[in-house]
Amino acid sequence: MEMLNSILRITMIVLLFRAIFTIATSFALSKKMKQAQQNTTAVNQQLMELQKKQQAELLARLVHDDYCGKTIEKDKAYIIRSDNHLHYFCSWECRQNFIQEAG
Ligand SMILES: [Zn+2]
Repeated sequence: MEMLNSILRITMIVLLFRAIFTIATSFALSKKMKQAQQNTTAVNQQLMELQKKQQAELLARLVHDDYCGKTIEKDKAYIIRSDNHLHYFCSWECRQNFIQEAG
C-alpha cells in the first residue's frame, strides 16, 4: 500500500509538471505568435506607406490630355507651350487637333 501510494504520488507530480510545462510552452508560443503578428503588421504598414508614396508619385507624374481628356504620364506626353502654359497630349494627333482648333 505504501508502495502504491508513492507510485501514485510520483505519477501525480509528473503529470503536474507536464501540465505546467505545456502551459508554459503555449504561453511562450502565443507570445512569439503575437510578436510575429506585430512584426507582420509593421511590415504591412511600411508596405502600405510605400504604396501610398508610389501612388502619390505616380499621380504627380500624371497629366490630362487637353484635347481628348485622357490621363497620361507626363514623360510620355506630347507637350506644347502656349501663353506660358503647358498643354499635354496623349498623341501627336491630339496635339495637332488642339493646335488646329486653337488657331
Ligand atoms: Zn488624346
